[in-house]
Amino acid sequence: MFRILRSSFSWSQIHYFLVNNFSKQCSSFGKNTKGFSTVQRSKIQGIHSLQRSQHHLLGSFRFHGNFQEQADNTNMVERKAMIQNSAMGARISKKRQEWQASFRDLISNKDGLEWQTSDWELVAKKMSLSGGPKWEVLCMHTLYKDKNLALGRSLMSYLEQQAQSPSQITLTFYFGLLGETSTSSEQDDEAKVIYDRLLQVSDFLDPASIEVLVSGLSCTKHYRECVKLIDMCKESSTVGLTILFNTLLGSIRFQDLDLVVSTLSLIEEAIEPTQLAIHSSKIIEECLSSTNEVFSTVMDFYKKHSLLLPLKQSEEIIEIFQRHQPNKWCIQTSYIHHRTGKCVNCQYQMERTAITKTEFETIRQAFLDQVIVGSNIFYKSTPDEVENFVKFVERSGPYDVVIDGLNVLNQQKSPKKPEVLDKTVKHFHDQGKKILLLGSKILTRYISSIKMLNPKPAIYMTATTKADDSFFLYAALQSRKDTLIVSKDKLRDHKFLMDPKLRHLFQQWLKEVQIYDWFFSRYGQFIIGRRHLYSIGPQRAEGGWHFPLNDIDKDYPFGNFTVLCFQDNTIVPTQNKPIKSQHSGSERKRHNINYGKKGQQKKRTKSTPVDLDELMKG
Ligand SMILES: [Zn+2]
Repeated sequence: MFRILRSSFSWSQIHYFLVNNFSKQCSSFGKNTKGFSTVQRSKIQGIHSLQRSQHHLLGSFRFHGNFQEQADNTNMVERKAMIQNSAMGARISKKRQEWQASFRDLISNKDGLEWQTSDWELVAKKMSLSGGPKWEVLCMHTLYKDKNLALGRSLMSYLEQQAQSPSQITLTFYFGLLGETSTSSEQDDEAKVIYDRLLQVSDFLDPASIEVLVSGLSCTKHYRECVKLIDMCKESSTVGLTILFNTLLGSIRFQDLDLVVSTLSLIEEAIEPTQLAIHSSKIIEECLSSTNEVFSTVMDFYKKHSLLLPLKQSEEIIEIFQRHQPNKWCIQTSYIHHRTGKCVNCQYQMERTAITKTEFETIRQAFLDQVIVGSNIFYKSTPDEVENFVKFVERSGPYDVVIDGLNVLNQQKSPKKPEVLDKTVKHFHDQGKKILLLGSKILTRYISSIKMLNPKPAIYMTATTKADDSFFLYAALQSRKDTLIVSKDKLRDHKFLMDPKLRHLFQQWLKEVQIYDWFFSRYGQFIIGRRHLYSIGPQRAEGGWHFPLNDIDKDYPFGNFTVLCFQDNTIVPTQNKPIKSQHSGSERKRHNINYGKKGQQKKRTKSTPVDLDELMKG
């Protein structure tokens, strides 16, 4: 029965049909269709299940959207159904791709000639896809993807001539096509008529349809309607990245600072803001056509959440700047020196970053409330051990440095040399720092000389095999805002347990205090490598911009300080300046970044192509 329904109606019509049947207690659909049996249980629960089930169907046959997003929102039973559906979906998907390829062949064979009624009739006859969406839906989806407005209009007028009006999903793609290709106020209004028609038919739209509508709306003067659709989406699902990104793009495009601000705030709440970075080139391109205020607001958001521009987009971003502002910029790949905070290309001094005392208090409290108490995150430990540790910290804290003893020791190849631990502790002890050495019982045999130090460091050995990350975070947060944590562990993962609004603060604090880059010199001294004490941007300076690039790797979880350095040719004198590299050769080698041959000065010339090949390899 469902097959008949599906081939005769659009998804939204099916939804409408189901809701109505359900509310009339007409159960024929529920009886016959396993996936919908839950609809019978209760009215409220039924509607929710129904909405989810409908999402499944769209998930199996959907043309767009994020499958993972749905998977996250469903339970195990539903996931099983989803897997079954997805096997069928894969077959349909393959057929659909073949179908779309033939449709595109037909288009190219027509060689730009106007399509007649007979052409569409031929498509309808030859290209019906059994088990899949209706032919015109596939056609409109293909035309939407290809941004083929002329043929989209032709298909619409053909459908309008037919007795049956176009399905809701066909209209959705047609709207998306009109919106995304709009270059005039008239076309914006033409699109709006379709949009109003869609909303008249149904006041519930699934997230996949909303995604297409937002994408179209955001290109028209009616972009503010996106806000309504986001609210609608919130009722049944989480709002995904694509919807938020397109709404942001619309607000930037139409220079609507209020909407830029509110959309960014929504992004903070609804998703992990760093996800936005994959759309950086598009965002920057739109910002360059908008106001300076909008551009600064968006870049401040990038800075706040440490968004890094994808390396693979850097050349595209350079090209965008050169296209929008020709001859304005001299652009170099550079890096911010971690000790001085200066760009090694232009010597611009980046800001020193430091969270305030109040901010530190906020994350300390949030960590205690949400992470420790709320989720009982000391999961590798017993309640007794946690209580012991809390009392121990009360008694022996606050500390200047918390050292992950096992982590320091495990950085050594076998056999373990106890002296590395001694040297690490002694490095801080010599500076008069108050130390907490944390580890498990395994460490006991390595610490005899540490126990002899005067004053003796606080030493805590857990009974479990490994002290939980939360021990380090707890001990440091119960001390001071600049208490260091010596560990290469991924402590930053804990930010996901915090309120979304506080995650960037937690990350910033950790960047400042976590010592993850250390090594022992040839004389065996403990040496701290890179630290993140300065902002790496995006930063607008008097003469240009600095944009941080995403060069994160397993050794540098917060990134490796690479930036695109933009110098304004109209302000900065164009004579070549010698550029002193402040990275020592060995350091550069250590980080596997080639910034040019040793001893060779980089020349600053206009529009120098930036060689990122070496960076891209990493
Ligand atoms: Zn610079």
